[in-house]
Amino acid sequence: MNNKQKIYDTLLELVKKDNVKVDELLKNHLYTKLGGRADFFITPTSFEEIQKVVKFSNEENIPFMLLGNGSNLIIKDGGIRGIIISLKQLNDISTDGTTVVAQSGARIIDASYHALNEKLSGLEFACGIPGTVGGALYMNAGAYGGEIKDVLDYAYVIDKHGELVKRLASDLELDYRTSNIEKNKDIVIEATFSLKPAKYEDIKEVMDDLTYKRESKQPLEYPSCGSVFKRPPGYFAGKLIQDSQLQGATIGGAEVSTKHAGFIVNKNNATTSDYISLIEHVQKTVKEKFGVDLEREVRIIGEDLPS
Ligand SMILES: Cc1cc2nc3c(=O)[nH]c(=O)nc-3n(C[C@H](O)[C@H](O)[C@H](O)COP(=O)(O)OP(=O)(O)OC[C@H]3O[C@@H](n4cnc5c(N)ncnc54)[C@H](O)[C@@H]3O)c2cc1C
Repeated sequence: MNNKQKIYDTLLELVKKDNVKVDELLKNHLYTKLGGRADFFITPTSFEEIQKVVKFSNEENIPFMLLGNGSNLIIKDGGIRGIIISLKQLNDISTDGTTVVAQSGARIIDASYHALNEKLSGLEFACGIPGTVGGALYMNAGAYGGEIKDVLDYAYVIDKHGELVKRLASDLELDYRTSNIEKNKDIVIEATFSLKPAKYEDIKEVMDDLTYKRESKQPLEYPSCGSVFKRPPGYFAGKLIQDSQLQGATIGGAEVSTKHAGFIVNKNNATTSDYISLIEHVQKTVKEKFGVDLEREVRIIGEDLPS
């Protein structure tokens, strides 16, 4: 099925009418405020709707991808062909004994504060990570010595055949900013975190300290995708970039942050190609000066604009 109108009509049968958009501008959904349009953009309100869309996409060979909070994604100016599934409406968080259960579209920051209010410790590290629970599992997000791997018990996913399946944390191959979720084409639906009872004041003190560190060191006043590069073994990406005198370097509207060298900010209406060119310039310069390959943490997807 290649006809756009026919795909749209079918999506309207699968997902509530107001939750299907055509030619949606993605820059409005991404932290970098960059990116072209998606052919179709849907925001399901139930897991059954997602299952139906996955089965339809498989039958008709229409590509789809998941969008969490768009805080680790750069989408090219030519946009995305196929369907973007945004999970923002599936954001319930609850407690069951010492576990916190969060739907994949919930913000991991909200899960962290929910745990605080329930006097449960373990998610403090996540109190400033601006992703969703699904995106955090996909990336095995972490900060200040903690990561998802430490607290995840299990997750429910919709697998590539559209079936609901339980995956233990150990099934997901969680490692430094990676998992096997993409390889397996899983869609994270819900996560259960195993936490420990603690005093409210003690949990709050840790979260306040981490928030202070983050706000004083990161350029949160500009759009960005957080740390662009992974930590290379034996080095710190930010230090290598700083020592390469790259802070303040610009291409178009993109700038290597003067506040935190590991961040590239969209300072002045950058295009995605400005941003990507600056990432490549940083990688090339650091390689020349120190012989170190900087691997991207941020994902770059989508199509270039036709030339
Ligand atoms: C200011 C700033 C600070 C940051 N600080 C940190 C930090 O301290 N530590 C850290 O680890 N990261 C940090 N990040 C990066 C980012 O927040 C994390 O990588 C986060 O986990 C991404 O979640 P997301 O919902 O935004 O994912 P998105 O950017 O929306 O998506 C990322 C990938 O996950 C996939 N995905 C999303 N949801 C699902 C799902 N339900 N099922 C399957 N796949 C899914 C998407 O398809 C995509 O491939 C920061 C980013 C910013 C902008």
